[in-house]
Amino acid sequence: MTTRKQSAGDIIEARCTKCREVLNHRIVAMVEGKVVRVECNTCQGVHNYYPPPVVKVAKIPKNPAGSKARATSATPRAAKKDPVEIEREEWAALSPAFDHDKAVPYDMNSRFPVRRLVLHPLFGIGIVRAVIVPNKMQVLFKDGIKLLRCFCM
Ligand SMILES: [Zn+2]
Repeated sequence: MTTRKQSAGDIIEARCTKCREVLNHRIVAMVEGKVVRVECNTCQGVHNYYPPPVVKVAKIPKNPAGSKARATSATPRAAKKDPVEIEREEWAALSPAFDHDKAVPYDMNSRFPVRRLVLHPLFGIGIVRAVIVPNKMQVLFKDGIKLLRCFCM
């Protein structure tokens, strides 16, 4: 037997006439194998049994366009310039003045003063923007500012 027969005292889901929700109810009375009266576990009200609606998801959003509105509200952010984009533009503005012959290959054990040109194997040519003692520096590359290790004590 796969399905157990329901009997008085069992807990079943039913629509509560007072709570106006599908809640657990205790079976109070049954007639010919069918539940007729139930007691709500939430409000303790005893009422006729109303089976839960077949589709339980039911709650239709009041504003079906809501999700669409959220999607559009996210777009204006794209128009706003992100900091990386500003850094890239800064690099583009500075790079024509870069003297590639003076660029120093990046080495984490080297000293890099501010405005020194750095040649990084991954990021290409960049310029030291700031040195963060004891061992980091901000370098402006084509792809924006990167934080690199260096020996700057
Ligand atoms: Zn109730």
